[in-house]
Amino acid sequence: MQRDLFEEEHRLFRETVREFLAREVAPHHDRWEKDGIVPREVWKRAGEIGMFGFGVPEEFGGAGITDFRYNAVIVEEVMAIGATGLGYSLHNDVMAPYFVDLTNDEQKARWLPGFASGELITAVAMSEPGAGSDLQGIRTTAVRDGDHYVVNGQKTFITNGINSDLVVVVAKTDPDAGARGISLLVVERGMEGFSRGRNLEKIGMHAQDTAELFFDNVRVPAANLLGPQEGQGFFQLMANLPQERLSIAVMAVAAAETVLQTTIEYCKNRTAFGRSIGGFQNARFVLAELDTEVDIARLYVDRCILALNAGELTAVDAAKAKWWTTELQTKVIDRCLQLHGGYGYMMEYPVAKAWMDSRVQTIYGGTTEIMKEIIGRSFGF
Ligand SMILES: Cc1cc2nc3c(=O)[nH]c(=O)nc-3n(C[C@H](O)[C@H](O)[C@H](O)COP(=O)(O)OP(=O)(O)OC[C@H]3O[C@@H](n4cnc5c(N)ncnc54)[C@H](O)[C@@H]3O)c2cc1C
Repeated sequence: MQRDLFEEEHRLFRETVREFLAREVAPHHDRWEKDGIVPREVWKRAGEIGMFGFGVPEEFGGAGITDFRYNAVIVEEVMAIGATGLGYSLHNDVMAPYFVDLTNDEQKARWLPGFASGELITAVAMSEPGAGSDLQGIRTTAVRDGDHYVVNGQKTFITNGINSDLVVVVAKTDPDAGARGISLLVVERGMEGFSRGRNLEKIGMHAQDTAELFFDNVRVPAANLLGPQEGQGFFQLMANLPQERLSIAVMAVAAAETVLQTTIEYCKNRTAFGRSIGGFQNARFVLAELDTEVDIARLYVDRCILALNAGELTAVDAAKAKWWTTELQTKVIDRCLQLHGGYGYMMEYPVAKAWMDSRVQTIYGGTTEIMKEIIGRSFGF
């Protein structure tokens, strides 16, 4: 179905992004998968062509445009080449609202130029070994001491965990105050007592650095608190999570579509019993069902992007987009792998890597079960 989401400027931007990825990313991604990380220079080069911080005001080196369609273009192009190691969407789609909307003028001047240039890589550290879905169960603390907070605790599964320079750490500033006792503090690379643990070994997304972080009496200036006062962190997270979930949904549909197209080609070319695989009604029916579902998913997600741009995307609609598209993605890729036969299990075929990379999509950013809780609670039970 014809998409009507994008305009001429997005199409031009897509060409720039596609050309950049073909030149700077695609030829190297296999090596980065083995290294377990993407070199920082690739971030800077992406920054040079304006891939970061569209919403960053021009005076701080951004484009000053709030339009999630640009974010979607990047995510779609990245997924079209399976470059799952790039943490760009975490930086652009997830972290931008924290750094653009929650910062004061002094913080903007300190952080936004580097954010937009790709010199300051960002991350968000919510999850801990003992608490993921249950955010209020975190144990990291930030105790006020004069002009500083003293941060102690441990985080895990942090995307861009090794490469990040600015980490938004979710910590308890008042452990007895429940949701009102949580605050967001920016911990910076090099602060004493802040260390990185392992770059975690994952099922897929091998080029993405996902790490443990440790905080041992880290003295973080009070000037690094996000928002005008402490105790707002939980609500700041809740306000930004719909955009994070929409980004994952865009990724899900783009990945599913990419694998579907390569599988259709594969089914045209591979033969068995004297005919192409696509000559079997089963293959045609499977592909027809998947293609229909991906089309429908795309329309819902496109509508969510417009709603986000209009400031109207609700937590419930974002939850619907996140769980349904990511479950669809894993189904599409699994069925496509089946249509590849034994070749689908071989890493030299893109479907095999896509299968491994996709599995996490129903987990991070809030699991499918938590998304259904959000939707179910909206009925007033
Ligand atoms: C590759 C990767 C990257 C990640 N990146 C980040 C990051 O950058 N920053 C960050 O902070 N975190 C990140 N995470 C963490 C991720 O957000 C959590 O793993 C996720 O929220 C689930 O938390 P958990 O792993 O503690 O699982 P748990 O919360 O222990 O859940 C275990 C199971 O119980 C289910 N469950 C839990 N509560 C309920 C409930 N109320 N009702 C029904 N079922 C429930 C869950 O759905 C799940 O199936 C990342 C994780 C991965 C794997």
